[in-house]
Amino acid sequence: MSKPVVTRFAPSPTGFLHIGGARTALFNWVFARKMGGKMLLRIEDTDRERSTEAAVAAILDGMSWLGLDWDGEPISQFARADRHAEVALQLLASGNAYKCYCTPQELTEMREKARAEGRPPRYDGRWRDRDASDAPEGVKPVVRIKAPQSGDIVVKDRVQGDVVFKAENLDDFIILRSDGTPTYMHAVVVDDHDMGVTHIIRGDDHLTNAARQIVIYRAMGWDVPDMAHIPLIHGPDGAKLSKRHGAMGVEAYRQMGYLPEALRNYLARLGWAHGDDEIFSTDQMVEWFSLEALNKGASRFDFVKLDNLNGHY
Ligand code: GLU
Repeated sequence: MSKPVVTRFAPSPTGFLHIGGARTALFNWVFARKMGGKMLLRIEDTDRERSTEAAVAAILDGMSWLGLDWDGEPISQFARADRHAEVALQLLASGNAYKCYCTPQELTEMREKARAEGRPPRYDGRWRDRDASDAPEGVKPVVRIKAPQSGDIVVKDRVQGDVVFKAENLDDFIILRSDGTPTYMHAVVVDDHDMGVTHIIRGDDHLTNAARQIVIYRAMGWDVPDMAHIPLIHGPDGAKLSKRHGAMGVEAYRQMGYLPEALRNYLARLGWAHGDDEIFSTDQMVEWFSLEALNKGASRFDFVKLDNLNGHY
């Protein structure tokens, strides 16, 4: 029997719940409900300078207003830092990761050399097989994972199909900083694994991260969840949707008098169509939804369509 479906919405609490985030939450919710599974909520609050309690409250309120409930308590990523460090130490012990004692100056030189030679800036692996007895004094090491040096990494994506990344374009990236805190790349993998996430549904701005995250899954011998990277939302002019287009947080739509059903229906149709149907009930959304039916191309936000829908509710 296959595992019960577990999805997650993992917002960074640095501002209100924006339209793109709300749509990601909606697709995770619809898919989990369709599959009789769970949707978990993880607050990615590791960026201590930019994360705020007010933003956490705004995200939870926005989701509740849209009728997107989650299972269990929201999980704080920051609170799991010890576990992230523990996994990094396991990767060190198994030889899949190593300590890198490069000084900031060395790293700058490495970047400048690559630039001068017309190569993308990549860490050159100089501490991969080096003994820590050579370590310069006073430098606190970072932990880097050994990324494959040849071959391809294939992200098997339920929306985009197989997306191939050349291993030579990935370097040995950092999983633990010199102060012992995890990088975002590492924390996400450890959390998704520990939370039992079976399906990662998120914006396609995370597609290149997916290739790096697969390196960590493999090094730990963990199953890679199914992935579905959904194209970003664009404004009517084709540029990435932003405040400039008058796109606001979910709360602003609520204050303008839009109904949650209308916004939810509109968001569902942004990147997913079901024949000519314009108006879906929640039950129909759940019944008809499939990851494979999500559009591969960006969708355009259209206020007129949203207004029309709002008139129907
Ligand atoms: N916290 C990330 C964001 O808000 C999402 C990370 C993920 O879904 O893996 O863009």
